[in-house]
Amino acid sequence: MSKAVVSALYDSDVFRMACRQFDKAADAINLPEAIRDRTKYPKRCLAVALPIKREDGSVTVFEGYRVQHHLSTGPSKGGVRFHQNVTIGEVAALAMWMSWKCSLVGLPYGGAKGGVIVDPNLLTAGELEHLSRRYMQELVNFVGPQVDVPAPDVGTNERIMGWMMDTYSNHVGHVEPGVVTGKPIALGGSQGRREATGAGVAYLVKKYLSDLNLPITKATVAIQGFGNVGSEAALALAEYGAKIIAISDYTGAVYNPKGIDIQKALTYIRYQRVLRDFDGGEPITNEQLLELKCTVLIPAALERVITEKNAPKLKCRLLAEAANGPTTNAADKILDQREDLEIIPDVLCNSGGVVVSYFEWLQNLSNFYWGRDEVMQKLFAILDKAKDAVDYQKRKFKFSRRLAALTLGIQRVADAKQSRGLFP
Ligand code: GLU
Repeated sequence: MSKAVVSALYDSDVFRMACRQFDKAADAINLPEAIRDRTKYPKRCLAVALPIKREDGSVTVFEGYRVQHHLSTGPSKGGVRFHQNVTIGEVAALAMWMSWKCSLVGLPYGGAKGGVIVDPNLLTAGELEHLSRRYMQELVNFVGPQVDVPAPDVGTNERIMGWMMDTYSNHVGHVEPGVVTGKPIALGGSQGRREATGAGVAYLVKKYLSDLNLPITKATVAIQGFGNVGSEAALALAEYGAKIIAISDYTGAVYNPKGIDIQKALTYIRYQRVLRDFDGGEPITNEQLLELKCTVLIPAALERVITEKNAPKLKCRLLAEAANGPTTNAADKILDQREDLEIIPDVLCNSGGVVVSYFEWLQNLSNFYWGRDEVMQKLFAILDKAKDAVDYQKRKFKFSRRLAALTLGIQRVADAKQSRGLFP
């Protein structure tokens, strides 16, 4: 049998990490050779040059990507990242993880991801709008409600989704809210979407703490990353009675053993934009935060922050992966050996966001809108089912929880491809 020739296009640490995770899961379920590479590698990608006029009259050309990992069960789905360190390999890895995530929780989507190499903090509001619109303009023939549906990710938000929806709708000549999710409610966004990822993380943390017989009212939580996901998880966990003892962003971390006032931190961020000099606790570094003694550690920022160096030093009981790919494979091996620590793997832990994106898309397609309680109730039912499936798979095959989640997600995608057959 001939081996797949893999282009060097995506080659990077993070893409190799996603590929190795796939290989391990495929081996564990004896995935037939004939279906492996078809299931593993991204289907297609687009790279675009994005010239925008700056406020000082100059022109800057940014580079953007969209990777669609698979389209075998429906449109592809996944966020768009605006970050200075974006690479096409990273976007491809994130698209792969979206596939396993959607499949694991039973959504009729393949995975996708987009990215633009830009630090959005360095743009004015007007420049950000130009860039967002230009990105969507370049993607018009590559996305659509039945093709590929972008959403927010690191560095993008509701407002940006609104501009993208408007750009696409202007192009096709009618309102097409289902082309992106995570939109403002006024444009067909779903109730609960903004909080969905963080609320899902908090809900799963509550469930796993209960499995471990640890009362949530006695739990201490450290959260790395205080963007949409980290801050919403903090609010929901505080609501459940947990004490948030540390939060951070890229400017540094704050530690307060008595508990951080999350509302106060959010108000501070609204005016100062970053956590630097927030006086709700003592300043520490992001690295120190990860090694704090706490009940729950939540990486909620970027990939590969838990490494073989700090993995032996983690002092949490539960590691809840709100970020995508926060744990390197080498770190995962170390954590696997540690019986004092449980992991909620990313594809399960942060799936609440895409689940409510799916609800938003359904509401857009049917033009029938749901209340918040209905959204949250349906979200938690899906998370319960996915959690039970993962834990059953874990027990049945004596897998780690990550391997259990990945094998379930991967098997379903492979089954769909197998059932469709190979065209022509
Ligand atoms: N960017 C989010 C994720 O990584 C959400 C994707 C979506 O809602 O489509 O899961």
